[in-house]
Amino acid sequence: MKDPGIYRRSHLHASGFDDKTIDRMIAAGDLTRLRSGWLAAKNHDLTAAAAVSDGGVLTCVDALRFHELWVPVGRRKLHLRRSRSLSGKHPACRPMKSGTIRQRLTVATKPVDSVPSALLCATGCLNREEWIAVCDSYMNSHGLGVEDLRAELGSVGPTVTDWLYLTDPRSQSGTESISRVRLRSEGFDVVVQPQIKGVGRADLRIGLLIIECDSMQYHATKEAYERDHKRDRKALVNGWLTMRLTYDDILFGWEEVLADIRNITNRDRHRPRTPRKRELVEKSVRYSASEGKNSPRRADNQQKILASTPIRSPRGSPGLGRHTFRACFDRCQ
Ligand SMILES: [Zn+2]
Repeated sequence: MKDPGIYRRSHLHASGFDDKTIDRMIAAGDLTRLRSGWLAAKNHDLTAAAAVSDGGVLTCVDALRFHELWVPVGRRKLHLRRSRSLSGKHPACRPMKSGTIRQRLTVATKPVDSVPSALLCATGCLNREEWIAVCDSYMNSHGLGVEDLRAELGSVGPTVTDWLYLTDPRSQSGTESISRVRLRSEGFDVVVQPQIKGVGRADLRIGLLIIECDSMQYHATKEAYERDHKRDRKALVNGWLTMRLTYDDILFGWEEVLADIRNITNRDRHRPRTPRKRELVEKSVRYSASEGKNSPRRADNQQKILASTPIRSPRGSPGLGRHTFRACFDRCQ
């Protein structure tokens, strides 16, 4: 874990610093007093210091960003939590209202909350898709499955449990996660990270429609720009449809995106109606399955997902037909 450079005096004592040494470091400017019992080294994290100075610790969106997970942009307020005996100028974050989160957050002893504590707090500040996207980011970057995350979160209420089982550690970006959750909630059969011959791994697939969810972080370079255009060209030549979505499309223009996707699926343009098109889809399923077998971590994660994902029938699926998530996974991966 990154060190925010903020310490409790008791922790410094445990590390061998006595009060005399600590006071000498404060006088020399090597330590700064943030509030009673909390001190910051010279190169401390400024956002965490702001939370501690205001009587709390960093949590929620800001702690998740500190842990280098994907978080949506535009959350400007300081996300902190503090004990009831303390007060400050910034309002404290609150997990989803009582009864939904059963587990009480532990007393904060560190300047930045752990990922599980920050995720619990974020249930009150993020919407469902955003929270799921952060969970995906955490599981993907740490090699965790859904059950691992569930164990880390502890006892949670039914709403958060529902959200938890919509997560997917295979997701490669927050925009991909948000798109997947929204499309599935609309009843689309969405394949996650399909392998497409001649193209490589795509973000999402609905029948013959490939959906690429660009993020600001990974698509700003010339190399990415060139690669993505080549992928789109190869996909088109091979008979796929590609829809490339930007961060703004997904976060701020979703209604229009959804209307465009429906424009394709309502006219069955995504359905593999010819033997050649069906072969395209079947090959994608086979390539994805064979890659999974060759990747122990990926296969392990997939088993965890399968073991823990409730089987649900999508509502009126306009994709390849009505079937359960497990059947979709078996067939499409
Ligand atoms: Zn918050």
